[in-house]
Amino acid sequence: MDREKNNSLEKNIPVIPLRGVTVYPHTIMHFDVGREKSINALNTSLLNDEEILLVPQIEPSEENPKFKDLYDYGVVSGIKQTLKLPGGNTRVLVEGESRCKIIEFINKESYIEAKVQIIEEEEIKNPTEEMDVLKRILLKDVHEFVRNNPLITQEMVLPLMEIKDPITLSDTISSYLDLKPEDYYTLLKEEDIEKRLISLHEIFLKEIEYLKIEEEINKKVNFQINKSQREYFLKEQISAIREELGEDEEGSIVDSYIRKIKRLKLDKDSQKHLLKEAKKLETMSMGSPEINVVQSYLDEILSLPWNKASKESYDIKKAREVLDEDHYGLSDVKERVLEYIAVRKLTKGLKGPILCFVGPPGVGKTSIVKSIAKATNREFVSMRLGGVRDEAEIRGHRKTYIGAMPGKIIKLLEKAETKNPVFLLDEIDKLSSDFRGDPASALLEVLDPAQNDSFIDNYIEIPFDLSKVMFITTANSLNTIPDALLDRMEIIRIAGYTEFEKLNIAKRHLIPKQIVEHGLTDKQFSISDGSIRKIILNYTRESGVRNLERIISKAVRKSVVEIVENEKESIKIDGRNLEKYIGREKIIDDDIPKEDMVGVVNGLAWTSVGGEILTIEANIMSGSGKLRLTGMLGDVMKESAQAAVSYIRSNQEALGIKGEFYKDKDIHLHFPEGAVPKDGPSAGISITTALTSALSGKKVDHELAMTGEITLRGRVLPIGGVKEKVLAANRYGMKKVILPYANKKDLEDIPENVKKNIEIKFVETIDEVLELALNK
Ligand code: ADP
Repeated sequence: MDREKNNSLEKNIPVIPLRGVTVYPHTIMHFDVGREKSINALNTSLLNDEEILLVPQIEPSEENPKFKDLYDYGVVSGIKQTLKLPGGNTRVLVEGESRCKIIEFINKESYIEAKVQIIEEEEIKNPTEEMDVLKRILLKDVHEFVRNNPLITQEMVLPLMEIKDPITLSDTISSYLDLKPEDYYTLLKEEDIEKRLISLHEIFLKEIEYLKIEEEINKKVNFQINKSQREYFLKEQISAIREELGEDEEGSIVDSYIRKIKRLKLDKDSQKHLLKEAKKLETMSMGSPEINVVQSYLDEILSLPWNKASKESYDIKKAREVLDEDHYGLSDVKERVLEYIAVRKLTKGLKGPILCFVGPPGVGKTSIVKSIAKATNREFVSMRLGGVRDEAEIRGHRKTYIGAMPGKIIKLLEKAETKNPVFLLDEIDKLSSDFRGDPASALLEVLDPAQNDSFIDNYIEIPFDLSKVMFITTANSLNTIPDALLDRMEIIRIAGYTEFEKLNIAKRHLIPKQIVEHGLTDKQFSISDGSIRKIILNYTRESGVRNLERIISKAVRKSVVEIVENEKESIKIDGRNLEKYIGREKIIDDDIPKEDMVGVVNGLAWTSVGGEILTIEANIMSGSGKLRLTGMLGDVMKESAQAAVSYIRSNQEALGIKGEFYKDKDIHLHFPEGAVPKDGPSAGISITTALTSALSGKKVDHELAMTGEITLRGRVLPIGGVKEKVLAANRYGMKKVILPYANKKDLEDIPENVKKNIEIKFVETIDEVLELALNK
């Protein structure tokens, strides 16, 4: 061995215990010194211009190392530079000079000193073969190490190639390694250079292995990070695609509800309420009934048109076109509707009264409302209020209720898919109430512009804005509509149609509509005017055109069968074959007298189905002055009858009635068939006429109809529903109609062609009535 050593040199040197750093001879290194004893040692060396001894600590965490905590080998180093750092530390640059063996540690007052034996190592100029091999191995190790260590580049280790001396090489290489104290110690204490090189190789192998493991771990972690990033992007893309396709998004159900709820952009409180509901799902077990309740609730909420609306149009010209196209006649009604739309335009679609179309069935109320929807470019939905007794039908049931659902208002808005449809409330006069609450007051809330922007359905629980909905109502009569509701509404009456109007409605609308609905063409089906008239007069007797439409539809249906079955080209219906298609003429079995009779009077009534003839019969028989009423009765009718009896008694003589009928005769008044009149006391003059006729034996004109109430003194008072009543009289072929004088103003409502057919007599007293009715 060519190694030259000088063990004789002993020295006392101040000690800095090393932790976390390794310093070798032939290398320069800097580190920070902070511990008081180390700083004192450093200062002592500096003061004496001496070296410092760096001794590795066995346990780096030991703050205040004793002798036993220090290894017995160290490196004697020269201090090249010191720098005081803020915070009291001193950065020191040292150059390792030589290894040394520590003979003993000496406790100086403020630092540790060691008595050492310097291990002098001379440069090996001629290394052994063994050493050369080890050098090559070590250089390979370095290469491998660098490959696996991202912190060191090949350039950094290039100078190693130039180092010939195996000792210098070993120390320099060692300084690249961040060694544990025990490995560091091994390299320090090994005085045999060959053995030191082998130890270094072993340490290298271990370090390279560590690096590889570290690398592998890093790769795995990296892969995981990359993979999860990739997955994240893919998921985002999938959800974007799904959303585009309108499908549900991935992720937990709760997440998807939360996302959808947030997208509704509701007010804070509502959103909070819904998110709380959605979060409930997290804590519920799969398949539990509560899950269903919560999910149905959220699904219901999500399907409502919170922010969806049609683009409304208030184009009056277009509206007029739509109304004219869909409806014959009804010019005043159309004008009123256009005014209404114009006002909505000016008020930007806000507030305003609610339209209420009043009239008998089949006069086109619903169909006008549909046209309004079309003209204003809104969706159309309708709710029938007839027979609605339970408030819950309007406002829904609480969620806690089994099978709970929202009310019809919300359900229909869901159907409309927009929050601003035309919403028809049909038959508002048929609304009833009972122990289940008052639907009228719930409806009032719906219609009240002051509160309907935050309508709360019991099921939905959060407010829904109904203020953009255009509510329109219909009714057959106004009598049973609660006042509070009536106050909110603007009434538009549709009285009914004359025969002429019906004919035109049939030709222009009903027939073409039926032809299209049954898949025919104009050429395949036709019906003569005469046949239509016959249907109007002999098959239907109605104010509107509902039955007319039904019978026409029946005719078209039969024709379709015939065209298909018998391969006919077309069907023409006229007087000769009408019966074949629509059956025998319905003998309208009315009690309308066909000749003048005693005690039988054609009264006129205004009922929910329009104007009607109400035939009143009076019978006189021996008895004790009792008044009996049968048939359709109301209190008002009874009072009218009593008033009539009183009037006749006090005017008996003038009326030509003999004897004390109120003592020895019983009077029986019968009101055959027909709906209950809605307009209260309008049968007074008819009853009086019937009684007078019965008591006097004079016959009544059977082609005369009358309406009017009387006072006890015989004055005739005005009544309602003039147009409807006159149309009815015309329908039943009456020649004359008696009306109260005060109703003269209503004459202008009556179509000209009706006025031509029928003679209208206005009267002020019952005497005039009797004169016209009895004295033929
Ligand atoms: P209501 O709602 O008053 O009971 P509808 O609107 O249901 O009556 O009318 C019944 C049928 O008669 C519908 O097919 C309707 O289109 C038609 N109709 C009613 N009045 C007219 C009219 N003036 N012009 C054209 N069709 C009409």
